[in-house]
Order: sequence, then structure tokens, then C-alpha cells
Amino acid sequence: MVKITAPGLVIREQSIGEADKLITVLTAKHGLVRAFSRGAKKTKSKKLAATSLLSYADFTFTKTRDAFSVEEALIKEVFFELRNDVQKMALAQYFCELAYEFCEEDFESEEILRLFLNALWLLKENKKSPAFIKAVTELRLMSLSGYMPDLVACEKCGEYETEYMYFSSEDGKLYCKNCVPSNFCKCISSSVVTAMRYVSLSDFEKIFSFTLNQDGLESFCSITEEYLLNKTQRKFKTLEFYNVIKD
Ligand SMILES: [Zn+2]
Repeated sequence: MVKITAPGLVIREQSIGEADKLITVLTAKHGLVRAFSRGAKKTKSKKLAATSLLSYADFTFTKTRDAFSVEEALIKEVFFELRNDVQKMALAQYFCELAYEFCEEDFESEEILRLFLNALWLLKENKKSPAFIKAVTELRLMSLSGYMPDLVACEKCGEYETEYMYFSSEDGKLYCKNCVPSNFCKCISSSVVTAMRYVSLSDFEKIFSFTLNQDGLESFCSITEEYLLNKTQRKFKTLEFYNVIKD
């Protein structure tokens, strides 16, 4: 019998019959683990909270035949209070959908787990605005997942910085105003270029620690979302909901 012990974040839960559920947990070393949790929906179950969406817990999974089940789950941190705020909860659910999209089973996911845990913590503690947390998380996730944009300099002439640069979500490259290839590029200020470089390339500890003025933040947020959607070529229901209800 295979046994896995690992801390993980519950990113999806589905009901199975009256008492059981199937959960998907993002772990650092094993990526996504899908596991049945028997009796977890019963109100007296010790596993009820620990196997709920947005619980971060120490899990013990056992595998019999082809399926994992949750043998034990001990809560380390919960982000349940995000449920009291519709906008924050919508964003947290979008993060869960992103984790499901970008991670796989048996897939080293330490950095991505750390990113989502940090984003949820900042959201819960009101440390930064939801829009800011969303944009940084999207861009860093893309960078960790093999889609790091090429932000070193203008793709054609090598110009490092001008007052305004142009970013192409299509190819993830930067252009100066003399070299911009088409109308599909978005004009961004040098402060947004700096922010994008910072989030893609800095050490993890620093990625959320900068500020942008309101115009810069709006431009930064629209670029990270557009880039992510361009690369994934799919819709996210949770993102559409978030965009309807956000401030
Ligand atoms: Zn150029």
C-alpha cells in the first residue's frame, strides 16, 4: 500500500453521495493529489473542516488499487474567513481553478504552492488590494510555469527602457516605440515594465513588496490577465465571476 504524508491546500471538493467527498489537494512534492474522504461530510467528522476548500492541512493519503483516500487530515491554516467577503472568495476560487489548470499529479509544485499560500494569506490579512494580489499571482504563476515573459529589453533593438514600452501578450515580448510590430501590443509606462520585471525575476520573498499608482496598477492588472488568458487559451468561470463582482 502506497502512503503519502504531505501538507497541502484543498483546491477542489466534490460531493460523493450522502457522506463522502472527493477532494483535490495541491502538495509541494507530489503536485495534485485526488483523494476520497469517506464520511467527511458528516458534521461530527474530524475531517470535515480539514478537507474543505481552502484548508491547508497535514494530510496522510493511502492508495489502495487505483485510488487515494484521506487517512488523516490535521489543519495547519484555514482561509475560511475569505468566505465572508464575496470579492475575496471569488478571487480565492479563481486561484484554486488556476492551481487545477497549471499543476498535475506527481509534479514538483513547491513554488506554486508557496505562491498561492502567500496570496491567500495577504488576501485574508488585508495586506494588499485583491487586484494587486491577483495580478502579481498571475504573472508569477506564468513565470513559474514556463511562460516567463521576455522583459529584458526591446526585442528588436535592445533598448532597455524608454518612457513608454509596448508589451505583446501574443509572444510575451517587449518593444520600444520605434520597433512595435503591430496594434496588438499594449502601451505600458516604464513603472509597469519595472513592476513586471520585478515580479517575474525577483526572489520570492520580495514579489509582493512594491507599489504602483492607480493608473499603473490598472494597466499592470489588465496586462497580467490578458497574458494569462492568451497563453492558456481558455475561459475561467471563476475569473468571469470575479470580474463581474469586483469593485
Ligand atoms: Zn526597439
